[in-house]
Amino acid sequence: MLTGTRRHAGLRAAFWLPVFFFLLLSGCKPPEESNQKAIIGAVLIDGRGGPPISDSVVIVAGSRIRAAGPRASVPIPAGTEKIDGSGKFLVPGLIDLHVHPGARGGPVYVGADHTAERIERNLNAYLYFGVTSVRSMGTDLPPAFAVRKAERDGTLATTRLFTAGAGFTAPGGPPSQEVGHIVNETNSPDDARKRVAALAAQNVDAIKIWVDGPPALKIKRPVIEAILDEARKFQIPVTAHIATLSDTQHLVDNGAAGFMHMVRDTEDVSPEFLARLRSLSTVFTPTLVRQELAWLYTEHPELLDDPDVARSVEADRVAGVKAAARAAKASAADREEFDRAMRNTRKFAAAGVLIGVGSDGGSASDFPGLMTHREMALLAEAGLAPMDVIVAATRTGAVALGKLADLGTIEPGKLADLFLVTANPLEDVRNLRKIQAVMLNGQWVDRAGLKLK
Ligand SMILES: [Zn+2]
Repeated sequence: MLTGTRRHAGLRAAFWLPVFFFLLLSGCKPPEESNQKAIIGAVLIDGRGGPPISDSVVIVAGSRIRAAGPRASVPIPAGTEKIDGSGKFLVPGLIDLHVHPGARGGPVYVGADHTAERIERNLNAYLYFGVTSVRSMGTDLPPAFAVRKAERDGTLATTRLFTAGAGFTAPGGPPSQEVGHIVNETNSPDDARKRVAALAAQNVDAIKIWVDGPPALKIKRPVIEAILDEARKFQIPVTAHIATLSDTQHLVDNGAAGFMHMVRDTEDVSPEFLARLRSLSTVFTPTLVRQELAWLYTEHPELLDDPDVARSVEADRVAGVKAAARAAKASAADREEFDRAMRNTRKFAAAGVLIGVGSDGGSASDFPGLMTHREMALLAEAGLAPMDVIVAATRTGAVALGKLADLGTIEPGKLADLFLVTANPLEDVRNLRKIQAVMLNGQWVDRAGLKLK
């Protein structure tokens, strides 16, 4: 955490002595002031959506960004380690708001797969692809909390994990068909309140509700209302998996902060409702890729030959996805629903509704990190400008996490989560995969050394 030290360059011996002994005892990182880096000459795309800075300097001191701006206005202190960024593009670390780490890959979730080790590897895969923060949405068991603790304590250097713990659904409702009975399945408002309190005791970062499925398996509105009411008392933001406009309206009326997936039963969304979403800063995470995966590898089996797939996904899992893709047949209804979600994404974005990036990464063919990038490409296909996609994946992600003071943009005072790419992402967001280097918490990541699978 931010101690006062890195704000004061003029340090005194009285300060250094205890620090010296602290370092001796803890074997900790060196003092901030001896650990300054300057990334010089890159095109800076800072995540705020303004014009890029073509010849920039970004100074990182310890874990934080100290200065960022045009080369002419950012002096580089003596003794600073210099990194040549010329010809490169510097962007904030990406934030994936919708993941499910620890799953080995469906169709049926095996609880035993949800180990700290597998969660760490999944998080490493996100990190490898420039995703420096993820929000796990509702399928977490105790190992995820242990990993989050290690990451926050600083004993584990990997992508930041935010978690909703176990989400809410009706008995037998989604996602139990895919993951088994590991989430909070209830029809009782009183029981739901108790379970919200239990999640609050786990210090969850969000609460997730699945509002989908046939009526008999869909969570009841009084239960939803109880969850939202109780979560408000604990000041925990509630985000819901939705499909229909009517459910979305009901959730907004009762205080939901954000949504996974896009409205996909209708395109008849009123300008008034869109204006309301905008004024509430409600964040929509369309997760289009999850829909596209129903046919993506059937139509493009060559995508599975991408070397990054082999690098980041277990071989038997890739083989399973290949076999499933050969047998898969997407229905016309699936396509229509996807097209509707694409058009609504464009409509919501054009109305100024906040759009975030989420991949649903973790399910069978939804590969961690890789599919974050696929989702960004789909947002661009839906009609968002590359700059808007980058803002969605960075600043808006931080807004959704309630962490804009620390994350999401390259600005003085923020944590130094950022990466360099070798081609211009403003020409094509797919260039965000051309990663040269990733920095997490002010430290360059040894990408080649990360264990991803
Ligand atoms: Zn999900």
